[in-house]
Amino acid sequence: MATSVKLYTGAEMPIIGLGTWKSEPGKVKEAVKAAIAAGYRHIDGAFIYMNEVEVGEGIHDMINDGVVKREDLFIVSKLWCTFHAKSMVRQACEKTLSDLKLSYLDLYLVHWPMGFMAGDETFPLDSNGETIPDKSDFLQTWEGMEELVDAGLVKAIGISNFNRDQTELILNKPGLKYKPANNQVECHPFLCQENLINYCHSKGITMTAYSPLGSPDRPWAKPDDPSLLEHPDIKAIAEKYNKTSAQVLIRFQIQRNVIVIPKSVTPVRIQQNFKVFDFQLSDEDMKTILGFNRNWRVCAMQWSIKHKDYPFHAEF
Ligand code: NDP
Repeated sequence: MATSVKLYTGAEMPIIGLGTWKSEPGKVKEAVKAAIAAGYRHIDGAFIYMNEVEVGEGIHDMINDGVVKREDLFIVSKLWCTFHAKSMVRQACEKTLSDLKLSYLDLYLVHWPMGFMAGDETFPLDSNGETIPDKSDFLQTWEGMEELVDAGLVKAIGISNFNRDQTELILNKPGLKYKPANNQVECHPFLCQENLINYCHSKGITMTAYSPLGSPDRPWAKPDDPSLLEHPDIKAIAEKYNKTSAQVLIRFQIQRNVIVIPKSVTPVRIQQNFKVFDFQLSDEDMKTILGFNRNWRVCAMQWSIKHKDYPFHAEF
């Protein structure tokens, strides 16, 4: 089982990364250190997670302790929606690099296709509670992203939460210089994303699965929402292999050649989530898990449903 996925740039992206959304500043530094100690070489972050300073401290502690070198690591961050104007992309990336105290990122993603009004508010809302759009067009944003590669600030660029048509618009952009190397989308057995994965893979775009465990700590969770980790059928599969539900959910992705970024701030879970290279789900169990699909989303970004670039009206 390969432990990384090759980007079209030639870089190897480790197939498991540590997620850091909701990881509190007081805990995320230790989580990053625990992950690197456990063998993770890929950390998934974003400006909007408001914890990049501490993520960077964790990385630098491990580099300074001689556990890893910068070039052993694959660090990902994301351009927030209020920085979509082409002229703002570089300053957003430089802020992330300065918070992380790094000279380059391995991968920088456009976090969402929608641009929001620029300013101090990260979620500018109107009186109806809907995000206020800006005038940007993500094809222009993409040109700003391409400039980051040429400036040496990032090794590769990609997208996140882009649907098929939006991805295709970038691929067909006149004068396209660098195509997206990766599309990071929500993906787990309740939202298997078979169509989008097949489409992106056919175009040489790798896929990353976010919220692979169903994001039980999402702020808007409701008691009646379905739970992947507690799902009796997933538990039953896990028992067969003497593994946990989390390990089955992670293995499900890597067996489809999908990169996966489970979040945890709990060292034993961080270690457990990486121990997925010593078993293999049978074809039958893979098929059973795909059968759990119900197009249920953790991150529907419902505040932007009327935005012209909202991605989830399309079938995929
Ligand atoms: P996950 O599906 O990774 O679930 C995280 C939750 O699962 C936490 O509550 C964590 O608890 C718990 N958990 C982790 N491991 C285990 C385990 N072995 N057993 C039981 N519980 C466990 O959710 P996220 O939504 O955080 O998604 C992962 C990452 O994907 C994010 O952190 C972020 O980096 C990225 N992401 C990207 C988005 C985008 O728009 N591009 C959107 C959403 C996520 P605890 O931490 O307390 O251990």
